[in-house]
Amino acid sequence: MVHEDLISTDHIPWLSRNNVEVYVLRTDKTHPVISGNKWFKLRYYIKDALHLSKKQIITFGGAFSNHIVATAAAAKASGLKSTGIIRGEKPAKLSPTLLEAMTYDMELRFISRFDFAQKTLPVDLITNTENYFINEGGYGKLGAKGAATIPYNKETFDYICCAVGTGTMLAGLINNKKDNAEVIGFSVLKNYADHEHEILELLASPTQAINIIADFHFGGYAKATDDLLHFMNTLYKNTGIPTDFVYTAKLFYGVRSLIEQGYFKEGKSVLIIHSGGLQGNRSLPINKLVF
Ligand SMILES: *Cc1c(COP(=O)(O)O)cnc(C)c1O
Repeated sequence: MVHEDLISTDHIPWLSRNNVEVYVLRTDKTHPVISGNKWFKLRYYIKDALHLSKKQIITFGGAFSNHIVATAAAAKASGLKSTGIIRGEKPAKLSPTLLEAMTYDMELRFISRFDFAQKTLPVDLITNTENYFINEGGYGKLGAKGAATIPYNKETFDYICCAVGTGTMLAGLINNKKDNAEVIGFSVLKNYADHEHEILELLASPTQAINIIADFHFGGYAKATDDLLHFMNTLYKNTGIPTDFVYTAKLFYGVRSLIEQGYFKEGKSVLIIHSGGLQGNRSLPINKLVF
């Protein structure tokens, strides 16, 4: 479903300076909607569900969730049914993300924000033994195992930079890095510290150090400032790279800031993982972005 051969590694002179060369792994190029890290994070969950002879995938997310739409597509491609448990009351008008998930035959069940936070599920979904549950955002060990298969040339890069939501992708990249490479995560959450232990649980070696920069959340999850949107447009005009305001724009912004601060050692190369998620920009008012 994802054509891995479409993933290129692009050199970005516009971001390279101070004798540090920046490259971008374009996992966003595989598909406009089901692109990026989600397919990699889902692959072993789907395999596990098939192995256990489950019939349906159940997962969780908000109205603009990249994970919801990717799960719907991945389940359908493997002949599994899917149900998305969506946070909040059903709106009069469904988001483009949810409409898209429905085109992959995902059934949507809306539950209150309170029940969502408490993980209180509709009883019929719990009692059906043919259901296979995947955490919100694909968090978990199988997700990290899948993220470890994100394809890039390990020998070439000294720093690998990625966005961090649940930290599943970060954990997978750490578990699969070459010894002297450093993986740096850029958290998109305001309360990152509350979640750090969840990331540590996914590491192959629990004593591994993790390096998370928490200064570029721009107000918190799915929050954006005019400065961030302006940066996205400038990045696009100068490099042709589209980013999403929830994850990858904050990542690119953070990397650019660190380069300007001289954070990376001279002569080294930095790989930014473009983890996709462009469909999430559909929640922005029109006219904000030039792409
Ligand atoms: C989900 C997502 C992330 C975060 O991945 P985690 O494994 O949850 O940390 C990063 N970038 C994009 C585009 C995403 O959709």
